[in-house]
Amino acid sequence: MNTQELIKIEDDYFINTFTRQPIVLDHGEGVKVWDIDGKEYVDMFAGIAVNCLGHNHPKLVKAIQDQAEKLIHISSIYYNEPALIYAKRLVDKTGFDRIFYANSGAEANEGAIKLAVKYTGKSEVISTVESFHGRTIMTLAATGHEHYHEPFKCILPKGFINVPYNDLEAIKEAVTENTAAIIVEPIQGEGGVNVPDIEYLKGIEKICKENDIVFIVDEVQTGFGRCGTLFAHELFDVKPDIMTMAKGIGGGVPMGGILATEKVAAAFVPGDHGTTFGGGPLVAAAANAVLDAFEEENILDNVNEVGEYFISELKKLDKEIIADVRGKGLMVGIEYVDKLREAGFLINCTADKVLRFVPPLTITKSEIDQFVKALDEIL
Ligand SMILES: *Cc1c(COP(=O)(O)O)cnc(C)c1O
Repeated sequence: MNTQELIKIEDDYFINTFTRQPIVLDHGEGVKVWDIDGKEYVDMFAGIAVNCLGHNHPKLVKAIQDQAEKLIHISSIYYNEPALIYAKRLVDKTGFDRIFYANSGAEANEGAIKLAVKYTGKSEVISTVESFHGRTIMTLAATGHEHYHEPFKCILPKGFINVPYNDLEAIKEAVTENTAAIIVEPIQGEGGVNVPDIEYLKGIEKICKENDIVFIVDEVQTGFGRCGTLFAHELFDVKPDIMTMAKGIGGGVPMGGILATEKVAAAFVPGDHGTTFGGGPLVAAAANAVLDAFEEENILDNVNEVGEYFISELKKLDKEIIADVRGKGLMVGIEYVDKLREAGFLINCTADKVLRFVPPLTITKSEIDQFVKALDEIL
């Protein structure tokens, strides 16, 4: 079937939830992907910050192949070695004490909020405007976008308060004796690559400590090297009570997780939470391979070096239509002035007017050069 015929299947058969680019992708290698007609693309999006090692990474492919031949799924009723080994590796690297395996970012956040509520016995959660925490009913309530709330207002849980991002006073005002948790992204992704002031997370940590509130960082997008440290909260020198992860964790396989301190984690007892798929051997083997690559291939060094280069090259573009270039590591956004849309360009962008780039963490400077050159010409 050709591209048009294939795309028509979605029109006829899918529940209508996505606006996709009219491209049917077939295979990839490193930062490149090819569509079914053989057209080559440089992937500046990495499956929404998921394919951290790029496409078809040999270590990841081999780990998945080898594990698929042994066991794919066993349920949470039994132990499996890859998930046990991975838990120890990740916990030891991060300074948290315990892990729970989930399958997606929303599910990780859902579990994190349940844990905070069980730990505190309280019922209010503070999150930020322009945040993104997921599409389930509870994480939707935490997500600070009115237009996502609108059709579901009648069923959204109470107790979720959205305050402006990067505004400590707003958080202080929103705290009550019922506050269970504050959940924030260390750098907002979907909200338009918003990097907060250096004191912001420290300030939240302090408010949480003083009021016995659970401090949750949502590192679903910023985690696994995206911003130049293994987790972005390290950039702000804070120790949250809970961190949630997904996107990059398994290099492309659907996986998520919650890390928590001993104190908070102890609130859950068997029966409080669970999952059928979470921490299965296949995804855990993939996650181990991702950590292997981080340890053996200087991924973080590449993120820092190429990320800095990318941002400085974008800043040189100096076009009238660019209002701001910002980001950290390989999470980069260009905010453009409204003219671009008026001039008839529709670009895949987040927060209405921010072009977001979250390429594979293995991208090179010469690939960045190619991209910036093309972008320059287009602009
Ligand atoms: C993508 C994202 C989520 C949701 O993850 P899903 O796997 O799509 O459920 C949650 N939080 C942040 C910060 C994200 O970027």
